[in-house]
Amino acid sequence: MERQDSRVKIGELLIQEGYLTERQLKEAILRQQQEQTECTAYQPLGEICVKLKFITRMDLEHILRKHKKRIQLGDLLTNTGLLTCEQVNEVLELQKMQGQRFGKIVIDLGYISEADLINSLSTQLGIPKIVPSAGIVDPSILKGISKTFLTKNECLPVSRDGDIVTVIMSDPLSDEKIYTLENVLKCKVEPAIASPDEIMKGIKLIYDELGMVQAQPDLKATKSAYRSLVITETPTGEHFEENIVKVANYIITNAISEGATDIHIEPLENMLRVRYRIDGILRHKTDLPLHMASALSSRIKAVSGMDVTDKRKHQDGRLGARVMNKAFDLRISAYASLSGEAITIRILPKQSILMDIDMIGLSPRNLTIFKNMLKIPSGTVMVTGPSGCGKTTTLYAALHFLNDREKKIITVEDPIEYTLAGIIQGQINEKSGLTYKTCIKSILRQDPDIIMVGEIRDKDSAEAVIETCLTGHKVLTSFHTEDTIGALLRLLDIGIETFLISSTVMSVLSQRLVRTLCPYCRTEYTPSEEVLAAFDSISPINVDRFNFTTATGCLECNNTGYKGRTAISEILVLNNDVRDAILSRTSSGNIRHIARKSAQLISMREDGFFKATQGLTTLEEIVRLVPYHETDAMTPYSADDIVSLLQMAE
Ligand SMILES: [Zn+2]
Repeated sequence: MERQDSRVKIGELLIQEGYLTERQLKEAILRQQQEQTECTAYQPLGEICVKLKFITRMDLEHILRKHKKRIQLGDLLTNTGLLTCEQVNEVLELQKMQGQRFGKIVIDLGYISEADLINSLSTQLGIPKIVPSAGIVDPSILKGISKTFLTKNECLPVSRDGDIVTVIMSDPLSDEKIYTLENVLKCKVEPAIASPDEIMKGIKLIYDELGMVQAQPDLKATKSAYRSLVITETPTGEHFEENIVKVANYIITNAISEGATDIHIEPLENMLRVRYRIDGILRHKTDLPLHMASALSSRIKAVSGMDVTDKRKHQDGRLGARVMNKAFDLRISAYASLSGEAITIRILPKQSILMDIDMIGLSPRNLTIFKNMLKIPSGTVMVTGPSGCGKTTTLYAALHFLNDREKKIITVEDPIEYTLAGIIQGQINEKSGLTYKTCIKSILRQDPDIIMVGEIRDKDSAEAVIETCLTGHKVLTSFHTEDTIGALLRLLDIGIETFLISSTVMSVLSQRLVRTLCPYCRTEYTPSEEVLAAFDSISPINVDRFNFTTATGCLECNNTGYKGRTAISEILVLNNDVRDAILSRTSSGNIRHIARKSAQLISMREDGFFKATQGLTTLEEIVRLVPYHETDAMTPYSADDIVSLLQMAE
């Protein structure tokens, strides 16, 4: 059995620390008993004290973190609402009989999952959650420690800071194990957490396959303005420095191999957190010991051309990297935060994949309309949405579609993200006076047929686009607005005359990127009434007629249930009725109403619904990302209509 003599109840701790008086504690316990008889849900004592306003939630979190080694696991799990009191008592009984770890029994009984237990210990107690990977562990501290010892104790030392060693443990609350480790390592132990399976895998990999110490790839600093990640040199110097180089390389290559678009390295109160953005969602990858923070940020700053000595200034840098034989451009930003430098790394593939217009995710109907709009020789076609919604990909796909020997196509972009053969591409440079406005002026003297203006940013660029259309050119552009009608109203807002908008804008496409379901593990399900209610412009919905699927999670998708993304879109075609509505400066709700009645505008939500009926994504994912328009419910389509309309290639 574990030694738990030094552990105390949360109530006693709150009194000891002066957060609570004896009288308040009595009142809280009384309230707890009352609540338990009134309703069946168990309320942990800490939670009750917060409810009674005796302490704040922050106080509670603070005390849990501060006394992490003195709090019983059962107490923690009840205070965070993961276990009921009855369950804890049952586990304690079993523990007395079997002598197993509390955590193991709870998981075996199926009360909580291993992932939940680890996350709860990590977030509630501030115990770092470190991935036991060869890329993070400093092999020099493993010298003289046997594999058998680590396997038996389910632990793996990560790195040393003076006389403190951070050790990944399956049971970081065990005083006994920490005591044993401190004796063997001859230093203080700062526990981190990972699952027993992960730790075993890590130990096996490090001892068997890598043979303890192995030369690792290097981020080599060079003097040139543009730096390159060279993965050939073996680092030299002190163990710690060597290991930091290895850790930096590991994070970057691992993030790229997992398909991340951004890496976030964030110093917290007592650990360094590493998260990746994958398919638009931030995922917690690992924590690192806080003592690595300064060296790691210095390393990344050095290789990306920033001033390493200045830790108080916000800085930007760039770095080229080659991983898995592909070239990447890394944009690095260091933000001097209160608790140290926060580093974010944006990962841009050097040669982004040019998408065919048929592949960007437009439903058959929207694809037909979009192609028709592009073929009209004049007027502007706008693509709108927030940043990161795939506007650029759509614009490039459109240019690729229009690109033939009989048309002259010129672009002005910021920056050029993809080079297209047969197209003249230019980039703005505001410092040397090359704005969208001046560039468009020069482009017009080049006798173009089609012009692509990267983005409408302000009144100047908006006016330049409109004037170009008035001279009979075709202009493709993007605009940072929420939806299709929003783009028209935004043009009005920045001072473009209504008659200019209605005579030059042909169509507006608005889009979002939603995650697509993992094809290996998606399962059929019936959506809840609640989620269906968010699609109130679709009525009736005969749920039984469609095969809705939901996210499950498997090895293929990192247990997220999703893999990759697709575009959800709505496309507004400006017909006479819509033009009249703009001229009369009516409300956006009214314009939508008119567009739905006269041009069968199908909203992004409805397009998303269609894609959910095809098993591509989930209704929940659509609700999370796609705006809601209450006026759309005034002109409903039936679910059958939506599906047959969007399926139609016309
Ligand atoms: Zn899956």
